[in-house]
Amino acid sequence: MSDARPLVPPPGRRLDMACRCCGAHAVELVLDLGDQPHCNRLVRPDAPAGADPAYPLRLGFCRECTMAQIDHTIPKENMFSDYPYVSGTTKTLPAHFAATSKRVADAYGLRPDDLVVDVGSNDGTWLKQYAPYGCRVLGVEAAGNVAQLALDAGVPTWSRFFNEACARDILAEMGPAKLVTAAGVFFHLEELHSVVRGIAALLADDGVFVVQAIYLGGMVENTAFDQIYHEHLCYYTLRSLSALLAQHGLEIFEAGLVPIHGGTIEAHIARQGARPVGVSVRRMQAAEADKGFGEIATYQRFAANVEVLRERLLALLGAYAQAGKSVWAYGAPAKGATLLNSFGIGPALVQQAVERNAMKVGLAIPGVRIPIVEERADSAPDAYLVLAWNFLDEFLSNPANKAFMAAGGEFIAPVPQVRVIGAKGAQPA
Ligand SMILES: [Zn+2]
Repeated sequence: MSDARPLVPPPGRRLDMACRCCGAHAVELVLDLGDQPHCNRLVRPDAPAGADPAYPLRLGFCRECTMAQIDHTIPKENMFSDYPYVSGTTKTLPAHFAATSKRVADAYGLRPDDLVVDVGSNDGTWLKQYAPYGCRVLGVEAAGNVAQLALDAGVPTWSRFFNEACARDILAEMGPAKLVTAAGVFFHLEELHSVVRGIAALLADDGVFVVQAIYLGGMVENTAFDQIYHEHLCYYTLRSLSALLAQHGLEIFEAGLVPIHGGTIEAHIARQGARPVGVSVRRMQAAEADKGFGEIATYQRFAANVEVLRERLLALLGAYAQAGKSVWAYGAPAKGATLLNSFGIGPALVQQAVERNAMKVGLAIPGVRIPIVEERADSAPDAYLVLAWNFLDEFLSNPANKAFMAAGGEFIAPVPQVRVIGAKGAQPA
């Protein structure tokens, strides 16, 4: 696609911003995805132009502290006050939360009177897993509609943004927390330093903060550039997350990767010096150094790989369109909006998206305006483009999807490589 807008900028271009982590004016542009709408601002398919306004979506890398970040901030009140993402809609996530909470509760000896606070608690899926331990729980969820789902399910939840003031209110009302968790929100934080200060204030002296966030290393290795969207302000490595926490007297003492969302870092954090730093931390530090995750050249190569992905996917979808084959998106996740808008894939190539989440049905993916319809057993395209490729295994093991493939249907996975999966297995495109 020689006429397509380049995604890789000329090297050496500084973004006009102070680093979200260290404050240095040393953030260099590495991947330019152009102007894009807010991925979760779903619109009616026939909404007037301007209903889904576009903002720059650019990834930069701080040469001082190695934090990867986007420069444009859409105010959090616009993004998270009403939110269509609900944790409980796939099978993989509750199972993942159950396993994580049991591991954490057992490791730190959670007792019945202990307090567990979940930051960005969504519909309470994670906190529900602590019921067998009998401890006190509190969710903090800014999206009122989603917080209500948690309350309806009996999970105590405050509908507000977590920050230092919120943490101090929790402390005054409920006392210090033995465990603070934040899964899938830690990269969202506009008030990053206020949030970390709040967690430092809220933690009991022997308390543990467990964070799960998109792992920049996994994102780079999988070419998972579709994790980049306006909600995700920061993309962490162990090194850059440590640099952030150290500013607030906190330290990572255990770290590992979990295979969710295409690569997630899980870090266990305590007050500096409160717990011995485990070998898992030193091992991951060494792996990051080996793989060049502190070097800007690694991210410049990543950007070049995104351009290759674009060429291959557009060529494949173009061939389906030429052959008169229909392609629908399987799911309409936030990351799908990034992929489709970055590559300029609209209804001419992907006619519609099927979804289980009733909050999205009847609307359209913003920007490219691909309509979202309810997933139904009685209609199917020639091929599905799997935007939520991180759940591919779950989709492929579903009996209805096996039958779809046995009848000649295909799945197209766009990331980590463009592949076509059908009755004969997976083929690279
Ligand atoms: Zn920095």
